[in-house]
Amino acid sequence: MGAMGPMSRKRNCSAISCGSASVVSLDKQDFCLNHFLNYCYQELEAVDPRSRRLPSTSANLAAMRAFIEECSRKALDISLHSEKLSNLQRGRLLDILLWAGELFVLLRAPRVYPTDSVVPRGPAIRAYSTHHS
Ligand SMILES: [Zn+2]
Repeated sequence: MGAMGPMSRKRNCSAISCGSASVVSLDKQDFCLNHFLNYCYQELEAVDPRSRRLPSTSANLAAMRAFIEECSRKALDISLHSEKLSNLQRGRLLDILLWAGELFVLLRAPRVYPTDSVVPRGPAIRAYSTHHS
């Protein structure tokens, strides 16, 4: 049993009460395939502007896009290199890829989706008239 020393880099899924070996790391955590899929769904849902209530600042927008990019890269990597995927897992990987691609477009142009906020109008013109006299 001496094989599991500090030289062994094999890690387990970081989800609570899951003892499976990790197949992928995402967002600095290790996941087995099923928990990777769960985590992706959960996080993509959280950053989706159509379901989210929080306004996106440019700072967290950058973080979101970095996450989405990593998420889709890992999903693609798994679907290309994993031999023993079930049809359900394959379908979910594809679903994540498509969703991530869609989100990337949505977050690149954050004003495309409808918003109730007031559009600022013509402050430049008012500035001119107040400085007139
Ligand atoms: Zn797991």
